[in-house]
Amino acid sequence: MSIKYVFITGGVLSSLGKGLASASIANLLENRGIKIAIIKLDPYLNIDPGTMSPFQHGEVYVTDDGAETDLDLGHYYRFTNSPLSKASNTTTGQVYDSVIKRERKGDYLGKTVQVIPHITDEIKNRILNCSKQEKNIQVVFVEIGGTVGDIESLPFLEAIRQFRNEREDDCINIHLTYVPYIKAAGEVKTKPTQHSVGMLREIGIIPDIILCRCENPLSKEQKDKISLFCNVSKNSVFDAVDVDHTIYEVPLLFHEQKLDLLICDLLKLKCGAINMQKWEKMVSSIINPKRKVKIGIVGKYIDHQDAYKSIFESLVHAAAYLNAELEIKKFESDKIVKNNSVASSIKGCDGYLIPGGFGERGLDGKVLSAKYAREKKLPYFGICLGMQVLAIEFAQNVLKLKDANSTEIDQDTKNPVISLLEEQKEVEKLGGTMRLGAYLCELKPNTKAYKAYKKKIIFERHRHRFEFNNEYKKAFEENGAIFSGTLKGDSLCEIIELKNHPFMLGVQFHPEFKSKPLEPHPLFVAFLEACLKKK
Ligand code: GLN
Repeated sequence: MSIKYVFITGGVLSSLGKGLASASIANLLENRGIKIAIIKLDPYLNIDPGTMSPFQHGEVYVTDDGAETDLDLGHYYRFTNSPLSKASNTTTGQVYDSVIKRERKGDYLGKTVQVIPHITDEIKNRILNCSKQEKNIQVVFVEIGGTVGDIESLPFLEAIRQFRNEREDDCINIHLTYVPYIKAAGEVKTKPTQHSVGMLREIGIIPDIILCRCENPLSKEQKDKISLFCNVSKNSVFDAVDVDHTIYEVPLLFHEQKLDLLICDLLKLKCGAINMQKWEKMVSSIINPKRKVKIGIVGKYIDHQDAYKSIFESLVHAAAYLNAELEIKKFESDKIVKNNSVASSIKGCDGYLIPGGFGERGLDGKVLSAKYAREKKLPYFGICLGMQVLAIEFAQNVLKLKDANSTEIDQDTKNPVISLLEEQKEVEKLGGTMRLGAYLCELKPNTKAYKAYKKKIIFERHRHRFEFNNEYKKAFEENGAIFSGTLKGDSLCEIIELKNHPFMLGVQFHPEFKSKPLEPHPLFVAFLEACLKKK
């Protein structure tokens, strides 16, 4: 049977949750026994989001093969078992880069290189490549970033129009739009949806399904109106209502409306029965927790909703697993300064998490928070920069090396406890040149890390340039630190934890990229367990 394609476009405005909708639908089809893959097409010119500020773009999600990708891939990972790799995220920058490289090689000799067909062919090839990541993929979901009507997403839309034209029976289009409730008028308005579908039709794309993001479920009349004006059948208009408690309710909401069955019908896909019991149970433990845990996150992009997306979700997964209600307190690290009492800024949490980050701003506040957690014996979980902070604080205050620092912050420090990776010393270009992707890490028995993972060998994903400087290893060990995880065959430090502390642990990698709601990450679970015990 030929591979089927589901294209997901967005209308009216951004931030409607297209990634979440795509991941939720894919989740349902997967549950019905269909093997899926997902690709995100991003219309910006950057090769990848790796060089963008978290304020611009939110989190950069990293795959095993070291691709720095859009945060929607994090949703795909959490909701599905789709293969995720470099082939799962394409940007306009990548598309033009390949076409122009080929042009310089002479591959188009004699021809004028144009958006149609050369750019659109390249986009179509990338969609096809996504389906080749693993054997037997039956359905490929293609999420098109941006909003219909944007100039920059036009080549992607034209490419999917052609793609469908070449495979009429194997493709469907789902359009996610916004149906606002206008308070003054006391009614919901379908006009923006009509306009955005109109715009899609102008470029030759006719949606098969319309998903309406709305505050409250739409009435039958409202759906019929959308069906009439947008030229889709009456049973093809669905609610994507704002969820009350958790994003993990979204697949259940779609399933209730039988969206998964309609998609299988339209694509003439044979599908098995669905069993959402485990998923429902997980959602129910998020909604009906038995106890409470309060976690402080000290970061410098804390005001940006999406900058620590995977970390927030990993905490949600672990809390659901432990049947605890999660309260997150966000602390802006550069507001934590010495002359304010640190305790008065951040006190009152059961544990503290310091996420990854770059550059000098806010580092002191993080070091002060680590000191607070260490001295008060409150659980501390440091991720990437958060592990480096643990090491800097330990060196400054336990080893009494007052100027200990990372060379990222102070190039001339006499005590560079964190310094540049050897392989990074020659690097000049910033894009795509960090230590990226999955590396094997060996755990030391009888450590907190080992107890959490319950195995010796783990693979975790990385995104950093600096590392713990092994010249300080002995002094650390003599003063109560354990290097509980190291790169196999090398002594590169991957995990540091402290003895005589309930949970003071830092990891150089990013465990948050590998947590799923039904498979919470062991370190997040161990951290929250320590926080709950502390209470
Ligand atoms: N800035 C640090 C480094 O490059 C940490 C990076 C991170 O937290 N992702 O090593």
